[in-house]
Amino acid sequence: MSHSPLPVTPSPHQEGCEEPYSSYSGIGGQDNLQLEFLGTGTSTGVPPLRCNCEVCRSTDPRDKRLRASAIVRYRGKSILIDCGPDFRQQMLRATDDHLDALLLTHIHYDHVGGIDDLRAYCFDRHFPVYARQDVIDRLRERLPYCFAENPYPGVPLLDCTAINDTDPFMVEGIQVQPIPVMHDQLPILGFRIGPLAYITDCKTISDQQIDRLRGIPLLVINALRHKPHHSHMHLAATLDVIARINPGQAYLTHMADRIGFHAQVDKTLPQNVHLAYDQLLITL
Ligand SMILES: [Zn+2]
Ligand SMILES: [Zn+2]
Repeated sequence: MSHSPLPVTPSPHQEGCEEPYSSYSGIGGQDNLQLEFLGTGTSTGVPPLRCNCEVCRSTDPRDKRLRASAIVRYRGKSILIDCGPDFRQQMLRATDDHLDALLLTHIHYDHVGGIDDLRAYCFDRHFPVYARQDVIDRLRERLPYCFAENPYPGVPLLDCTAINDTDPFMVEGIQVQPIPVMHDQLPILGFRIGPLAYITDCKTISDQQIDRLRGIPLLVINALRHKPHHSHMHLAATLDVIARINPGQAYLTHMADRIGFHAQVDKTLPQNVHLAYDQLLITL
């Protein structure tokens, strides 16, 4: 299941890019990044309940997709991106269940529905969570018991830090650069950590953000299906964005059953683009 190491050459610092990739020392260096895909499915997961299409009946484990989430392990820290309703199941089968912090892309249930299970990480401290202020405000509405003055013993205790669209922020000593994108009318965030950019639920991304990501070694980005959709990029739109960013390698996530069979569709993609699948582990 491991693609390690990938034949990727780190890109040199790009003109016009404020955050160079120079901190990345490359394969074999002390800054190796490991990415573990916990889930690569759209909001319903694949198969969605009550679907009986041929993809949903596939016996290929790569066609079973839990809700989109990933762990980034970098410089000794483990950063979780999104915490959806499959979080518990995902952590039970993860290669390592240690987590230091959570980054949230947006408030939709398929990205935050597992936060109650973070209680296992809050026994001796408040768990650090980084998100836009609007996401934190909505979390407080949805999970008021986590923010109560005298919380019920055992509930997850979250230490939320508001981040904005532009400023890099530090997570456990690691610099993270937000990547603002639009999810239909909703402004949401992707994240750049060292040689990785992780973007999900994007419908549109600005030329400026594409410029800043040009040549990144590893890009994760969403592609829902073949037909256009109002709030998610479809495959052709995603491939267009990837071609403009020109990453070393790109992996697609947040897919519906309508993306097709992993084994068939993966073969049709450009040589540096792959469908991700649950439990795929990439070391860079
Ligand atoms: Zn989603
Ligand atoms: Zn969403």
